[in-house]
Parts: sequence; C-alpha cells; structure tokens
Amino acid sequence: MTDSLNIFVTEETIESDGDGPLAGKTIAVKDNISTKGVRTTCGSAMLEEYVPPYDATVVTRLKEAGATIVGKTNMDEFGMGTTTETSAYGPTLNPLDEDRVPGGSSGGSAAAVAAGDADLALGSDTGGSIRCPAAFCGVVGIKPTYGLVSRYGLVAYANSLEQIGPIAPSVEDAAALLDVISGQDPHDATTREKPDVSYADAATGDVDGLTIGVPTELVEGADDGVVEQFDDALSELEAQGATVEEVTLPSVEHAVQAYYVIAMSEASSNLARFDGVRYGISGGFEGNWNEAYARSREAGFGDEVKRRILLGTYALSAGYHDRYYKKAQDAREWIKQDFNEAFEDVDVLASPTMPTPPFKLGESLSDPLQMYLADANTVPVNLANLPAISVPAGETDGLPVGLQLIGPAFGEEVIIRAGSALA
Ligand code: GLN
Repeated sequence: MTDSLNIFVTEETIESDGDGPLAGKTIAVKDNISTKGVRTTCGSAMLEEYVPPYDATVVTRLKEAGATIVGKTNMDEFGMGTTTETSAYGPTLNPLDEDRVPGGSSGGSAAAVAAGDADLALGSDTGGSIRCPAAFCGVVGIKPTYGLVSRYGLVAYANSLEQIGPIAPSVEDAAALLDVISGQDPHDATTREKPDVSYADAATGDVDGLTIGVPTELVEGADDGVVEQFDDALSELEAQGATVEEVTLPSVEHAVQAYYVIAMSEASSNLARFDGVRYGISGGFEGNWNEAYARSREAGFGDEVKRRILLGTYALSAGYHDRYYKKAQDAREWIKQDFNEAFEDVDVLASPTMPTPPFKLGESLSDPLQMYLADANTVPVNLANLPAISVPAGETDGLPVGLQLIGPAFGEEVIIRAGSALA
C-alpha cells in the first residue's frame, strides 16, 4: 500500500484469530484509540513514541469479531480540528480531490475507507469528527449516543462530548460495525447495555411512515449547492413514503459558542497529563520541574492545541468560571430541551452535515474562527448526547455533500433505517 494521501500515521497489521462477524474484514483505527504494542500518537509530536500497554475496549471487540487492523490513521492533533491539517504528521489528502482536505478530525479514517485502503474504519466524534470527514469523503459515519460505546482506551479530548463510532462505505456496513463495538463495558461507567436489536438488520431502506423534521436553523447558513442536494435527498425520502416538516431549534444559535467553551475547558484538564513525566516527550532535567514541564509542552504541542489549552484554562479560572463555563452549561441544557421537544413531533431530524463542500488544503488554517463555525450543524448533537449519522447525498461541483440524520437518545435504529434509504 503506498500512502501518498498520508492516511496512516503508523501502518502496521494487527491480525486477529477471532471468528466473529468481522472475520475477513480490514479496518483502519484512528490514532487516538489505544492499541497494545502499537504506537498511538493522537496526531501529536507529544506522543510520537507512545506505545500503549493495553487495548481500548473497542479494539478488543474488533479482535474478538475477527477484524484485521491495517493501521492507525492520521487525525487533527488530539482531535482538535475539522480538516486533519493540525496533525503533527502533515495533512491527509482527500481521495476524491487531492487539493482538498478530507475533513476532520478523523480524516485519515474516512479517507482510508474512501480510498479502499480498509473495508471499515473507527473514528471518534467530539463535535463532528466522524460525520464531517464522512461527508467530505463521500462515505457513511455514525456518532453513537453518549454511553453506547466504551471510551476506555480512547485518549480523552473532551470526555463529556465524545464517542467512538464507525465509518464505512454503506449504512449497513457501518451499522454492523456498531453492533460489534457497542454495549456496556465495566471499564467505562458511563456505558450502558445495548438495546436488544441488530443495528445491521435495521438498515432496511424502508422510510414509509417516518416523520422527518428539518430544523430551519441548520439549513440557513449552508451553501446553495449543498442545500440543493439536501433538498433533492429529502424529496427522494418523501417519494419513498416519509413525511417532511419544518421544525425550529432556537437554542442551536448558541451551540458553537457553548461547544468551544466546554470542549476547551475539558481539554485543558484532560491534557494536563502530558508533561513529559507522566506522558509525553521529556522536557529534560535542567532547572526546576515547572521549567521541565514547560519545555515538554512547548515542544510537544502544536499551535491549535496550545490555543485551546490557554482558552480552556482561562474559561475555568476563578472569576471567569460563571461568565463562560457556567453559561455554556446552561446553553447545553437548553439545547437538550429543544431537541427533546422536537422529538415529541418527529422521528428523526435532518440537516446538511457540513454547510460547505470540502475546503481547499490550507484554506482554513489561518482563520480558526471560520473553522469553528463550520461545525455549526454537528456540535449541537454532541452537546445533547444524541446519535447522528452522515450519509452521502449527491455532489455539488463534483464534490461530495453529506446529509445528517439525528435521532433521539439510543435511537440508533431509526437513523440507520432512514439513512439506509439513501446509502
Ligand atoms: N471540529 C471540532 C473541534 O475541533 C470537533 C472535533 C472532534 O469531534 N474531535 O473540536
């Protein structure tokens, strides 16, 4: 395999002797998911030499199911980004157009599936990092309900928001992978028993009788070309027997702000362990411990990670905590309520996954705020801990468009069913 698209940080095969539902399948695993004995960098120079002593629960389950892991995929550093360009190992190129980004932060995983380097992939989604690259690479990605999939062995970025989830060429394949990785894990107390269903069997392609709500707020900001494809896909679902109606989620106007305050606050705490003593590259032995930590973090972290640690520390500091962190938590609560109310009237919600087609390489790096705003349609789902799927919905100017379907908590079945009518 020549990796001219820079999809893998580490190309190493991890065979399995399991004989389960994934026997004979190859899978690419995002490089923030721990693999025993195989380097796990999180796209960071800080962890360039880190080799985990244990497997993440999802990796144990992949092995039991018979999957062969083909490598660890490139990603934005610690998951912080929307393009896979903040990786210390260079950007991944989009297999559909090599001048463009694959999306992020699980860009290597989505590109691996799109390029045919693996049958399946695992990503992680804190604010869109599975759905965005799935949309930008023309494949399927599922962000599970918070608590459906174990985070044991996932290197934390913002632990109250994130889940590991599947990326695949079809909804049915993604659902079959979700069947393998989901369910309670004694190592992660936030997990719960999987509902007694087969997600793969839910991919029936039958949307007859389903009510799909379209939140106007999540369509307004999108490019015309994206909205056109989105509307076409909705018409197709209507033609197959679904009902489409407009709904409103007024609180999502605050989602990007709330998300970035919460994500950066949690990141500033989670990344404190990378000090060259507990984890990460050594800061040497000159001077006192504070100077040694500073040297480790100065050399080990990239600009985006430093920016977020600084802002997160600020948002949590005494005197500012009520003004930023507490307000963001209030907004999060309001967003949850809005979704709950919407689900009293509709079965699923639909929106464009990303407001634009994939960016040109280098385009968004110089303007972090613009990059954060691209997450407008994906972050509300993480704030509300809900499940969502991104499925391919046509092309605009030859570039892929993704359609997002959001379900009620632990309602993976219904988004899989609806998504399978399109992909
Ligand atoms: N783009 C978002 C961020 O930078 C989401 C990242 C993610 O889901 N890991 O935080």
